[in-house]
Amino acid sequence: MTQLYEQYKKLGISEEVYRFGEEILASLSARFTRIDQNAEYNQLKVIRAMQAANVSEACLLGTTGYGYNDLGRDTLEKVYAAVFETQDALVRPQITCGTHALALALMSNLRPGDELLSPVGKPYDTLEEVIGIRPSGGSLAEYGVTYRQVDLLPDGGFDYEGIRTALGERTKMVTIQRSKGYQTRPTLSVQRIGELIAFVKQIKPDVLVMVDNCYGEFVETAEPSQVGADMVVGSLIKNPGGGLAPIGGYIAGKKECVENAACRLTSPGLAKEVGASLGVLPAFYQGLFLAPTVTASALKGAIFAANIYEKLGFSVVPDGQESRHDIIQAVTFGSPEGVIAFCEGIQAAAPVDSFVKPEPWDMPGYDSKVIMAAGAFVSGSSIELSADGPIAPPYAVYFQGGLTFPHAKLGILKSLQNLTDQGICRI
Ligand SMILES: *Cc1c(COP(=O)(O)O)cnc(C)c1O
Repeated sequence: MTQLYEQYKKLGISEEVYRFGEEILASLSARFTRIDQNAEYNQLKVIRAMQAANVSEACLLGTTGYGYNDLGRDTLEKVYAAVFETQDALVRPQITCGTHALALALMSNLRPGDELLSPVGKPYDTLEEVIGIRPSGGSLAEYGVTYRQVDLLPDGGFDYEGIRTALGERTKMVTIQRSKGYQTRPTLSVQRIGELIAFVKQIKPDVLVMVDNCYGEFVETAEPSQVGADMVVGSLIKNPGGGLAPIGGYIAGKKECVENAACRLTSPGLAKEVGASLGVLPAFYQGLFLAPTVTASALKGAIFAANIYEKLGFSVVPDGQESRHDIIQAVTFGSPEGVIAFCEGIQAAAPVDSFVKPEPWDMPGYDSKVIMAAGAFVSGSSIELSADGPIAPPYAVYFQGGLTFPHAKLGILKSLQNLTDQGICRI
């Protein structure tokens, strides 16, 4: 065996598992080339945005206290607006996570009596409490904002007639989740999101469309804001933070929508003018700079995992050949043991906390126990190699991330090693 295999062997990978992985990899080279081309396009887009905004060394310094006249913060928001081709953006460490960014975008742009419509089925778990689908203090429901949902058709298509009926006089905003989240429906391409937005706006031109862009940034060459979304919203500890941002979220969109969000985040009247960036700006800038290639590594990892587990007979979404619109890979193991063994393998491959064993626990915001594997430099970062799955049927694991492809590859091989060692699958 090769010198390279010697490294894998030292990390506990059997020759059989290694060879199986190499065979799968050999069949993926054309796809990996296309992913690299996409990353190249997006890398140039980011550099161009930074140059156009005159990013300077002074932008990397932060402010403290109120954060008035924070050049780096204000310039970074211009860079995000340019990357997403929007009028404005709010990019802040005070936005604590993706759920917070989404809650902020919703709560600041909806008023009592308005209705929110999801035409793509149930939103991400943590948004159920934000909306009030599951009762929660401070939800939109408590403030008199109602919610309607139109499920996708059994074949994954949009229920256009159902959407037409659901778009009422009070419908102020439509929320579209790009990524599948903890579901096994297909992720929406930017093109399909554009078709849906065109349909909705043709019926109701003044409706606002928000896209939950989590996990979708830089996977394609265009973003949903380029096909009609009024706001795109996401987390900096996913794709756009490039693995370096230690916290944060963004809302990019129409000037008025972003202004509303800023008024809610800070205070009416203060809006974007306050909010010290402290010391996070170098990580925000450099993370965005790295994000296109980091996202490409994560995508390659997802495709590698899909092809491995598909070949072994498990159901995988997306399948091994499908085009990709987010970095999440779902693998259905059909048993709690499969989910747990997979997550243990991912954990064992980590640079940080490789020696701990992940266990299912009751996470806030989720309604079943969830197991999470993450040995990340940034706690909870899911652009870093990570896996999680609710301990509930169909016992699917959601796998994502990998700042570098070699790390993603090691994690996937470790998971496979674990599953074969435990007799859950055979090569
Ligand atoms: C991760 C995610 C969220 C929530 O983000 P957190 O940072 O975990 O709060 C919302 N929607 C989707 C689709 C996500 O993937």
